[in-house]
Amino acid sequence: MSLTKGREIEDGRSVLVSPQNGSLEGLRDRNRQRVVHALSQRGLASRADLARSTGLSRTTVSSLVSELMAAGLVVEREDVEGGSPGPGGGRPPVFLALDRSAGAAVGLDFGHSHIRVAVADLSHAVLAEQEIEFDVDGRGTEALDRACELVDEAIEQAGIARDAVVGVGVALPGPVQLKTRQLGSTTILPGWSGLPMGEVLSERLGLEVLVENDANLGALAELSFGAAKGARNVVYIRAYSGIGSGLILDGRLYRGADGTAGELGHVILNENGPMCRCGNRGCLETFAAEGPILELLGRTHGNDLTMHAVVEMAQGGDAACRRAIADAGHHIGVAVANLCNLFNPNMVVVGGTLAAAGDLVIGPMRDAVDRYAITSAAHDVEVVAGVLGERAEVLGALALVFAEGDGAFPLRVAVGSPA
Ligand SMILES: [Zn+2]
Repeated sequence: MSLTKGREIEDGRSVLVSPQNGSLEGLRDRNRQRVVHALSQRGLASRADLARSTGLSRTTVSSLVSELMAAGLVVEREDVEGGSPGPGGGRPPVFLALDRSAGAAVGLDFGHSHIRVAVADLSHAVLAEQEIEFDVDGRGTEALDRACELVDEAIEQAGIARDAVVGVGVALPGPVQLKTRQLGSTTILPGWSGLPMGEVLSERLGLEVLVENDANLGALAELSFGAAKGARNVVYIRAYSGIGSGLILDGRLYRGADGTAGELGHVILNENGPMCRCGNRGCLETFAAEGPILELLGRTHGNDLTMHAVVEMAQGGDAACRRAIADAGHHIGVAVANLCNLFNPNMVVVGGTLAAAGDLVIGPMRDAVDRYAITSAAHDVEVVAGVLGERAEVLGALALVFAEGDGAFPLRVAVGSPA
């Protein structure tokens, strides 16, 4: 069966495409593409889920799914979590996924001192994953070489053909300008500043590349794989040496006019406060990022502290570490209360090293949100710790390909002409 042109099976009949029904055929092509894209985005979905997310009727979805199954592009999956009986005790829904032959996505995450890579099929199953320590800040050029090698290794380890890769999502530790896809800050990875990273990597890898900043990808990851699954309006906070946030508004990543939306770390809490790396005073980062927390505790706990150690000591009952984490949670909560007033999210997810402190940071955040946000904007908001830890960015890079990669790729694979 041809999936793109000529004859196709419609309602059990073979339909010849003629000039008169060509537009009908075009519509069916587009609908088929919408179903495939919705499946790629969700990983697993029932026919009813697909009808909801594409806006197509149940009958149309069922008929398109039958075609796609006959072509070997879509498979039914039984062993799925959530496949329990419905509220009426009826049959659990049957979940569908794109077949492994439909394609694969690659995620690549550059931190300041690590590179991580992952490969997943379009049902979102991770097939290979690897992380190495690397001085990305200091050795930018070699970092690119090493990353390309890691991508090659991961594709091989996953056992997939290179021409089955739909796209490569790339997480960068700074704001990425929408128009130029360059890093927007010259203070972050100075060696890469002004480089069109997407183009550079795409040329090196011979694959389609999508770049995005790490906090936005953390948000997409928790939405697709983690704590925010199924939520529509999510604020994701990424608290490491800097504090960023990713905003999911009405189910989609919100980037702003040029990709800099969500710079929560530079919300001003006290205009006479400490000097920030951005040139302003009293930004959230100057109170709640790793640096100021470690500096505060350095006086009593020594100068070689790490944030992991602080979290561990806090959980072991160390009063100063508990207080420092609670204060950071409170300060982030004040900024989040403002976000709640502006965006009325249903979920706030905290990622980064602070997230490992669990209730020690979430509790004070929640209290600050309750105290400073107007009741109607925040009374229903759930404040939770992220569940993906240090994998959030690389999984988010995969999610970016699922959501925004070439949605027609699996259909071209099915007719034997990938890319
Ligand atoms: Zn600042």
